[in-house]
Amino acid sequence: MTKRLLTGLKPTGEHMHIGNYFGMQIPQMIQYQNSGEYDVFLFLANMHSLTALHDADKVRQYSINALKLYIACGLDPEKTLIYNQAMIPAHAQLTWVLQCLTNMGTAERMHAYKDSINKGKAGEISVGVFTYPILMAADILLYDADVVPVGKDQKQHVEYARDIAEKFNKTFGETFKLPEPKIEETVAVVPGIDWRKMSKSYNNYIGLMDDEKTVLKKVKVIPTDEKGIDDPKNPDESQLYQIMKLFLNEEEDKKIRADFENGGRGYGSLKEELHERIVAFLKPIQERYNELTDEDISSILKKSTPKAAVIAQKKVDEVFQKVWFYL
Ligand code: AMP
Repeated sequence: MTKRLLTGLKPTGEHMHIGNYFGMQIPQMIQYQNSGEYDVFLFLANMHSLTALHDADKVRQYSINALKLYIACGLDPEKTLIYNQAMIPAHAQLTWVLQCLTNMGTAERMHAYKDSINKGKAGEISVGVFTYPILMAADILLYDADVVPVGKDQKQHVEYARDIAEKFNKTFGETFKLPEPKIEETVAVVPGIDWRKMSKSYNNYIGLMDDEKTVLKKVKVIPTDEKGIDDPKNPDESQLYQIMKLFLNEEEDKKIRADFENGGRGYGSLKEELHERIVAFLKPIQERYNELTDEDISSILKKSTPKAAVIAQKKVDEVFQKVWFYL
């Protein structure tokens, strides 16, 4: 049977940046979807957005925009199962069962909650921020996902999903498949246009919906060292190269590395090339995004959510049988 790869998309209101795009392994997902190596499941994680966002109109618009962008990037609703988490009761139902099997100590060790404590904000966050890794485990386990592509920051949550699945299987009998986190080391951390990790909160990102001029402004400020045109440069120490290589195939990469190492090419010219490459990458995505309507997205979700619901409900029925909710 073809293995399943599952990923969630949390609508936050801001468009993806290239760090999200590569870090969340979207190119690989598109490749798997097209080659059939995995069955790809993509769910709209709108229950997760409720942990911090309490405005239905915004959640709706953010959800639609986020899905438009994924589809514009190449996720194809005819090949990838794209569904609406909140419309499938099984997510909340399984979450309760898993919550009751999770020790407080385990939940307290989850990094989102720990970060809030470290920042002295534990009293201000919702209980949802504390328990969302448990919902995330339900999101994964309901569909017998084999692999979950994640950034390093989410690895802990997939490991928890494995642990809780194992605990359930031991307590109530074999029910859940144990998922594997899938981390792509080469893009585990995409640098921003300063020296830090690309992030919305540092405002050092290149967005997938940025226009040509904005990209140019951002590329210009990428830090470089003092080396002149003819000086040999070390690509592995260059922020510019770290970003450039995301857009290069093997052969192009060899050429750019040689340009760095041999000297004869200045940072100005390399920045020009990076700008051109980013714009050429973004243009077709932005064109497709602008062609999609809100109705297109609603109708995709309406068509495919019931298919996912059948899979999820079957799993919850099995779970409920085993924990004796059914008489
Ligand atoms: P965020 O919106 O910052 O929570 O990011 C969502 C996901 O995008 C993370 O879980 C990572 O998988 C990925 N991501 C975000 N920023 C980067 C980055 N600079 N490098 C690699 N992956 C990233």
